[in-house]
Amino acid sequence: MFKTNKFMLSTISFIFLCSFGLISYKFCLNSIIFMPKEYKTIKKLVDQIALKNYLGDQEISFSVASGSYMEYEAEKLGISNKDNSYYLKNLNPYKKHPDLQSINLNDLSKQAYLYNSIEAYAWNQIVWLSKSSFRTIGNKKNYLAWFIAHELSHIIHNDHIEQSIKLSKKIKDLEKETMGKNNAVIKKKFKIEKDEKIDLFKKLLSRETEKFADEEGAKMIINAGFPKDTPLEALSFITKTSYLDAHTDLKSTHPGYLERYSSLKKFIENYDEKKKLKELKNYSWKWIYNRSLNTLTFIPKKI
Ligand SMILES: [Zn+2]
Repeated sequence: MFKTNKFMLSTISFIFLCSFGLISYKFCLNSIIFMPKEYKTIKKLVDQIALKNYLGDQEISFSVASGSYMEYEAEKLGISNKDNSYYLKNLNPYKKHPDLQSINLNDLSKQAYLYNSIEAYAWNQIVWLSKSSFRTIGNKKNYLAWFIAHELSHIIHNDHIEQSIKLSKKIKDLEKETMGKNNAVIKKKFKIEKDEKIDLFKKLLSRETEKFADEEGAKMIINAGFPKDTPLEALSFITKTSYLDAHTDLKSTHPGYLERYSSLKKFIENYDEKKKLKELKNYSWKWIYNRSLNTLTFIPKKI
């Protein structure tokens, strides 16, 4: 109780000092106390996950952006092309933007908040989330914990090299099949088939990675004390709200709902968190919010 009162008192003092300009404006803007509520939610969930899981020794940034709706709508409005589609998708939703070819980007960003659904990905030590994900998830924050843990798993267990080696072996095997074929027509046919097989193999590797991230994400949140059925409920929730397919399309990077659900269910039934928690050490970390970059960064302390 004493600790809580002390924390509240220092928070109130900080807000007071910022309000009266007694601390540098920039310092106040970058304080975690004044960051948008979506970032506060991320911090709270990741704090809970990190208490019972090792998240590696590298910094991990989180960024909340406008989302893919911006990209699609901007294309229909004729203001998006290959060069600026990422710019619009990643647009900072907490900042005012000038019009782009007389289209009000701020209004478009508000529409994306309403109509975009749950959207997250991991790239280069960054977990990217659309602002609309928070609106769609609402008060089911434990679902969000699993979505975040899934993305954290992509970062912590980056398997690009291993998967790339598997792909390289597959390409060599396919090339062997075309060896000795001198007829130009047959060669061309084999080349088309080879490219299709390579593409399908890439998708297969991606689906393997996705299933692994589902499982590692489940591990993380079960270790962190969330209910064991959370990942399965969250998977059903995102399938419903994002109208995802039940069937696994072999040309897709993600498995269908039925395959994902049954493999995740099997994993959770066999997972013993008590054994895992016994091996856990004490980790510590700090957070840095950067309003201008629109990031919240998790910084682990070296052990
Ligand atoms: Zn994924």
